[in-house]
Amino acid sequence: MTASPAAPAGPAFSTLPLAAPVLANLQRLGYEHMTPIQAAALPPALAGRDLIAQAKTGSGKTAAFSLPLLAKLDARNFAVQALVLCPTRELAEQVSQEIRRLARAEDNVKVLTLCGGAAIRPQLASLEHGAHVIVGTPGRVLDHLERGSLALAALTTWVLDEADRMLDMGFAEDIAAVARHCPPPAKRQTLLFSATYPDDVAKLAARYLREPQEVRLAERH
Ligand code: ADP
Ligand code: MG
Repeated sequence: MTASPAAPAGPAFSTLPLAAPVLANLQRLGYEHMTPIQAAALPPALAGRDLIAQAKTGSGKTAAFSLPLLAKLDARNFAVQALVLCPTRELAEQVSQEIRRLARAEDNVKVLTLCGGAAIRPQLASLEHGAHVIVGTPGRVLDHLERGSLALAALTTWVLDEADRMLDMGFAEDIAAVARHCPPPAKRQTLLFSATYPDDVAKLAARYLREPQEVRLAERH
């Protein structure tokens, strides 16, 4: 994560169809105006569309997928409803933190981070207690799906964050295997975020997204 963008000049978050307590929480966090990618991505994502969003690092992409997944989430249903795949443990931890900040404490949204390189046993114990949102790296998430310690039957949002980096790191096959554990595209919302948009990311989008809205704020690489 880079430094906060200097006072984003986009429309105010209050122009979005977000509940009043969510807006109050954003204000408390100092999020008043949207960044350009948020202004372009949030309306279609909150309307339930699949989305391809490309914008450079530090442009506020995390909130652009976290607010829509939180808006749909039913905290009374203690099942995994959102999955965010990230390329590295560090990024997954940052995303988990941002989702926890954007979720209000009183909503009791449980976010669990599942990354490779960390011991599996504590992850298995945490999964037994349940979670609403899983953020993790593709290999370890797949490991849990194959062990049966994680199930995605109740999934409503699937996010591929930093898709370009995940492909660069060789995660294409793991992502494909995770996709086979997800409900079909018509039963989930799929959001793909990337800093660049090379052909392999376009192919990934064609494979997993359904009539996506494209929001691209940078040159094609
Ligand atoms: P990206 O994923 O595009 O690299 P991040 O989502 O990590 O960017 O956001 C970068 C930084 O900007 C974070 O510190 C985040 O808290 C901050 N930020 C995001 N959106 C806003 C906003 N609308 N107003 C103020 N700060 C924001
Ligand atoms: Mg990011």
